[in-house]
Amino acid sequence: MQPRIYTRTEHNVSRKQISEHALKVLYRLKSEGYEAYLVGGCVRDILLGREPKDFDVATNATPEQVKKAFRNCRLIGRRFRLAHVVFGREIIEVATFRGSGDKDKAAPKVDSDGRLLRDNSYGTIEEDVMRRDFTVNALYYNIKDFSIVDYVGGMDDHRAGSMKLIGDPETRFREDPVRMIRLVRFAVKLGFSIDAKCDQPIKQIADLLGNIPAARLHDEALKLFLSGNALQTFEMLRHYGLFEYLYPGAEKSLAFEDQGFPKQFIVKALENTDARIASGKSIAPYFLISTFLWDSVLRIADKNLAKGMPESIAYQHASSEVISKQVQSTAFPKHIGMAMRDVWGMQPRFSYRNGKRAFKLLEHPKFRAAYDFLVLRAETGGADKALAEWWTEFQTAGESKRNKMVANLNGTYPKKRRRRRKPAAKGNNNG
Ligand code: ATP
Ligand code: MG
Repeated sequence: MQPRIYTRTEHNVSRKQISEHALKVLYRLKSEGYEAYLVGGCVRDILLGREPKDFDVATNATPEQVKKAFRNCRLIGRRFRLAHVVFGREIIEVATFRGSGDKDKAAPKVDSDGRLLRDNSYGTIEEDVMRRDFTVNALYYNIKDFSIVDYVGGMDDHRAGSMKLIGDPETRFREDPVRMIRLVRFAVKLGFSIDAKCDQPIKQIADLLGNIPAARLHDEALKLFLSGNALQTFEMLRHYGLFEYLYPGAEKSLAFEDQGFPKQFIVKALENTDARIASGKSIAPYFLISTFLWDSVLRIADKNLAKGMPESIAYQHASSEVISKQVQSTAFPKHIGMAMRDVWGMQPRFSYRNGKRAFKLLEHPKFRAAYDFLVLRAETGGADKALAEWWTEFQTAGESKRNKMVANLNGTYPKKRRRRRKPAAKGNNNG
C-alpha cells in the first residue's frame, strides 16, 4: 500500500504548534533509531488550526523499548500495553503500531455480531492505519522529515470537511459500535458532515450499542455532553437514533412530548451546559443526567402518589427505579446517582417553606444544584415562576428579611401538589 506523502511545504502542521514534550519524545525515539509519528486527534486538530487536547505518538518501538529510552516512562494497560512518558502534568502517550491480530488470516477476529475480539498484537504502520476509525483521525506526522503520511485519503476528507470511516462503514461499526457515537462527536466538534454511506448501517445496527459495557458508554456520554457542543450533539444523536441507547428513559419521555415538555427543559439544560463550558465554568455531570431523566422520575412519582404513597417516599422510590434502569445503559459511579437523587428529591420540597423548612432546605449540601434545577423547570414551564423567584430572593436575603419572607407565606402553604402539566387532551375532556 502506497501512502500519499505531504511534504512540509504542502501542509500547515508546524512544530510551533506541537508541545515541546511531544517533540522531545519524537526526537528521542528517532535518535534511538525508531520510527516516530504524531497521530490521531492532535494532527487533525492542528490541521484545523485548533489547539490539540493532548498529543499521541505512534512508533515501531515496543513498549519495553520505549521504556528503556525514557527515564520518566511507565507502562500501562494489560491487554494492549501503552507507554506514558510523564512530564509533570503533561503525559505523552506512546503506542506501538498495532497489528490486525492474526498473522495467518487477512481478516481480524470478530464475534457473531462482527465485534473485534483480538486487537492486541503489534504491527506495521500500514496495519496501524487500518485499525483506526476515521480517515481524518489517521494522519501521521513524521518527525523524520516533518511530512504527513496519508494512507486513506484523510487530507482530502479534511479539506472537504467530511467524516468517513476507513473501510466499509458497517463492518467497522460492527467491530466497535462505539464508533457510531464517536462519529457524531467528531462531526459536531469539527463541524464536518457525515458521509452518507453511514446512514443506513447506523439505522440497521445502532442496537449493537446495547452490548457495550455500560461503564464505557457512560464515559463516552460524558465526552459527548461535556464537549461544549452538547445541544448540537444531542440533536444529532437523536437524528441518528443513537440517543436512545445512551438514555432510553429520556428518549421515551421525548416521545411523549406534550406542548414542548420535556424537550424544552432538556434543551435549556444542554444550552446552559454549553454556555458554562464556554465561559470556563465547571460542570457537574450529574446535573445534566438528572435533567434527562426528570420526566421519568415525575411519571413514576405521580403513579406512586396516586397509590397513596407519601410524597417524599414517592420521589425516593421513583428515583431508585429510574437510576437502576439507567445504569443498565450508562453505568455511573454511586456518588452521581446520590446527587441526582438529592436534586430530584428536593424539587417537591421547594413548595414547603413555612416554619423552619425553607431554612433547612437552604443548608442542604446540594441546595444550589437543586435550586438551579428548579429555575430551569420554571423557565421552561415545568414549575411555578413565582416560586423560583421566591427562592432566588430568599437565598440572597439577610436573616431578618428571610424571617419576614417566611412569615409572609401564611396561606400559601400548598395543600395539594400542583400538577406539572395538563393531561394530554385526547378527545376525552367532554368538551
Ligand atoms: P480527542 O480530541 O477527543 O481526544 P482523538 O481523535 O484523539 O480525539 P481518542 O479517543 O483520544 O480521540 O483516540 C486517539 C486515536 O485513536 C483516534 O484519533 C483514532 O485514530 C484512534 N481510535 C480511538 N478510538 C478508536 C476506536 N474505537 N476505533 C478505532 N480507532 C480508534
Ligand atoms: Mg486524544
